[in-house]
Amino acid sequence: MTLNNLSFENTYLSLDSEFYDITNPIPLDDPYLISFNPNAASLIGLDKNCAEDPSFVALLNGTYRPKDVRHFAMCYSGHQFSHNAGRLGDGRAHNLGSVDGWHLQTKGSGETRYSRMADGRAAIPSSIREYLMSEAMHHLGIPTSRALGIIGSQTKLLRNRIERAAIVMRMSPSWVRFGTFEYFHYFKEYDKLKALAEYVIQESYPHLTGDEDRYFKFFEEVLERTAKLIAQWQGIGFCHGVMNTDNMSIIGLTIDYGPFAMLDDFDFGFVCNKTDLAGRYAYGEQPNIAYWNLTMLSKALASLIDTKRMQKKLDDYGDHIYPNAYIDVMCQKLGLQLKQEDDMQLITSLVGTLQDAYIDHTLFFRTLSRYNGDRMPIFELAMNPVPFDKWLDLYDSRLKKESRTQRERQEAMLQTNPKYVLKNHMLQHAITLAERGDFSMVETLLHIANHPYDELPEFEHFAAETPEEHKNITLSCSS
Ligand code: AMP
Ligand code: MG
Repeated sequence: MTLNNLSFENTYLSLDSEFYDITNPIPLDDPYLISFNPNAASLIGLDKNCAEDPSFVALLNGTYRPKDVRHFAMCYSGHQFSHNAGRLGDGRAHNLGSVDGWHLQTKGSGETRYSRMADGRAAIPSSIREYLMSEAMHHLGIPTSRALGIIGSQTKLLRNRIERAAIVMRMSPSWVRFGTFEYFHYFKEYDKLKALAEYVIQESYPHLTGDEDRYFKFFEEVLERTAKLIAQWQGIGFCHGVMNTDNMSIIGLTIDYGPFAMLDDFDFGFVCNKTDLAGRYAYGEQPNIAYWNLTMLSKALASLIDTKRMQKKLDDYGDHIYPNAYIDVMCQKLGLQLKQEDDMQLITSLVGTLQDAYIDHTLFFRTLSRYNGDRMPIFELAMNPVPFDKWLDLYDSRLKKESRTQRERQEAMLQTNPKYVLKNHMLQHAITLAERGDFSMVETLLHIANHPYDELPEFEHFAAETPEEHKNITLSCSS
């Protein structure tokens, strides 16, 4: 399909006008294509060569408007760093409507009613980061929004330094957030809250439509999806950085990529967000923060659902829903197929060992995927190998209980523990080149993002331990 055949639906606009603001994207100056993502294009039936059509850049820039597109920004609220932030909303994202169930939006297309004194723009660095990382997460099997393409421009922005503006076209099956529900709850618009619940159920939880107990079941599923998502983040070493409730997807996706990071050396306390001085969103805190955020969601749903039932489900999150999701993820990483009572102890002991060893998270699990009883390859990775001896004793005896052959286990683990993840220093390198007009590294990282489990001999260096001077890069929110 070509761009002019794209057919948009605008179901969100059937809701009350308080849910959104009709917008007019403000184009960037001298826009040019930085990258096009053919995998995302195929999701909406677009031809792989559609980026060669000049209308593609114009589509992202808002100057080409396919028929049926009516741009709008969504209204929401949210708790930011534990404080109720009042009305937020898409301050720089403009929605176009949906194609084949994918809601398209351009991030950085100028001010909206919800911009709150900010400029409605996004700079090249954060845009390249979101574009590449969302694709990487998808290929790692982690639920996420996607991105169709990215353009740069000559439009100047004032950030820590003068930057150039970019626009990413993002796609998601839903952009509704926990904070969307919070908005209608805190402004006491209970009828609209109900209409939102009906909308989300119909669109994203259609199997619950017509169920008398659908609101509670919806809450249960949001909680379960969120638990699974966070377990996957923990397993892969992803730190989101800004787990405010306005950045929590109502369908359990990773959304709103900001100052995120993949772990370099394993560290429970790692905080990737420079502005998060208290470490609220540290890597090791993410499961607890998800619980806190789900509690905020339960408060926002109090006019629809019995609060005691929601509290019981929240208790279950801590008692078994999250722990079980995490055990599942970790057992897969460890190549354990059978469930054993004491698996959690093995995992807890591993996490303590990793914390003490100063060892690259990704490299450790990839190396463990080839474990055959020889401990040297693991010892060589760690600055402090001592703690591994004890843990590998435990692991050896646990492996004996498995029925798979060593080779079968290794093959499964190599499909679970990636060789390539996009670390911040790699993204930073791609950004530096892109700012000079060289987009080759963006394409390279997009390629790597597509093949996290493959051996790519020409890109071997990207699988190495992060150079010491590039470890633990932190970023701030506003970019
Ligand atoms: P974030 O932490 O990036 O998810 O953003 C939090 C809120 O601030 C959201 O409502 C964004 O739309 C808004 N926001 C962030 N940056 C800008 C900007 N440059 N212009 C307008 N709104 C922004
Ligand atoms: Mg956000």
